[in-house]
Amino acid sequence: MKKSKIYLIVFISLIIFLVSTTIFLTISHKSPTYCSCPFCDRKVLDNQKYFEDSNVIGLYTNKPLIKGHCLIIPKRHVERFEDLNDLEQVEMLKLVKKTHLAAKKSLNVENYFLLQKNGRSAGQSVPHVHIHYIPVGKNSSAIKILYKFLVYPFNKKVDQSEMDKITSLISENI
Ligand SMILES: [Zn+2]
Repeated sequence: MKKSKIYLIVFISLIIFLVSTTIFLTISHKSPTYCSCPFCDRKVLDNQKYFEDSNVIGLYTNKPLIKGHCLIIPKRHVERFEDLNDLEQVEMLKLVKKTHLAAKKSLNVENYFLLQKNGRSAGQSVPHVHIHYIPVGKNSSAIKILYKFLVYPFNKKVDQSEMDKITSLISENI
């Protein structure tokens, strides 16, 4: 084989390598989960939010485990708790407290628990970090809560009037 032919083959291979690497890096940097993230969708946020400031948002979930079930999220698309910066971590926990005090006033909530999942095997369904704030009735029990989790997949989504009512109630008392 002529030397010039070898150079041409090496040159073409190099071009193909560079083009394919550029395409791969461009695609892999655009996470498809980010594009379809419901917590980055302005329509979802505007419909479900009861609180928003520069770093965090409080949402009423559209499928509550128990009435008053809220979600506290950072505004920035961050997948896991350890990816949050210090300010976002603090702001999220401050909003948990505000949410509870508002729910206590407006929904007569006394007790609650928090749930925060990281990773698919931990049960994280939306890849945008969120803290579940879940109120518990005074007369509830571990068995009753377990039952709520068991029937949760069959729960219906809240209708728009219920969504508007609860987000307004919490928002007015926050
Ligand atoms: Zn997101």
